[in-house]
Order: sequence, then structure tokens, then C-alpha cells
Amino acid sequence: MILQRVILRFPAQVVDRPIIYNLIKKYDLVVNILKANINIQKEGTMVLEIQGDPTQYARGLEYLQSLGVSIQPLSQAVFRDEEACTHCGACIGVCPTGALYLERPSMEVKFDENRCVACLICVKVCPYKAMGVVAASNSLAPVD
Ligand code: SF4
Ligand code: SF4
Repeated sequence: MILQRVILRFPAQVVDRPIIYNLIKKYDLVVNILKANINIQKEGTMVLEIQGDPTQYARGLEYLQSLGVSIQPLSQAVFRDEEACTHCGACIGVCPTGALYLERPSMEVKFDENRCVACLICVKVCPYKAMGVVAASNSLAPVD
């Protein structure tokens, strides 16, 4: 069995198809939806945790690719250099999951690793290079 977190990006023409249902039913995968969004162009983005037999997992990915769905494995983990962070707040507005947020009344910017989906947007916008990435140890980790 493997466990993997991925970001899927769906073209507008397939967002109304029962794709997640098919992943579960046809490929016997366990799918946990961590985040889902449809933008103004009707394109979908989904962050999923997928667990299952490696062969079925690979077949499921082939199915997604056949529909034009792009797949980005979350094989990186994001960390913050606490000494470099000035709590300027530039990262808060761009973080799509609320993993970076303002704590009151201290007005400090906090980082909740459990809510981070490693999209790396904050790494690009932080003016002090306080956000960084490391290879995650649980990428494609065996679960039994
Ligand atoms: S943008 Fe960088 S320096 Fe500013 S609060 Fe976020 S992590 Fe800290
Ligand atoms: S990588 Fe940064 S912007 Fe993306 S979810 Fe994690 S903390 Fe938020």
C-alpha cells in the first residue's frame, strides 16, 4: 500500500465528471479530499490524500492523465526560519489554506504545518526568504 498527497488541476471541461467517484470505485483507492476549489474560469484544483495498492494507484493516475488532469505530487515539505521571519504579513494573503495566519493580540504571523499543502506560494513571496522547502520523508511512504 502507498499513501501520497497530490494536487490535481482539472480542465474546465471535466470538472463536472464523477472523477473522484471513479478513483474510489474503479481503482479501489481511498481518497481524502483536503481542499477543493473551482476558479472563475471553471478550472478545478483539489488537494487529495490517496491511499491504495501501488498498481491501482498507478492505474488511477493514468485515468486522471487521460482526462487531461495534471498531477503534482506533494513531495516537499515547507518550513519557516523563525529567526528570518519579521512577521511582515506578506505571506498571509497568498496562503490558500490559512496555514499562515495572524495571531491576535500578539500580531505575530504563525505557521501551522498541518494545514500546509506545500504549494510553495509563500516561498516565492516572502521578502526575507524565511519560507523554505525540504524533501518530505513521507512521500510515497509504505503504510503497511
Ligand atoms: S512573508 Fe516571510 S517574513 Fe513576512 S510574515 Fe511571512 S514568513 Fe514572515
Ligand atoms: S506552502 Fe506556504 S502558501 Fe502554500 S499552503 Fe504552505 S504555508 Fe500556505
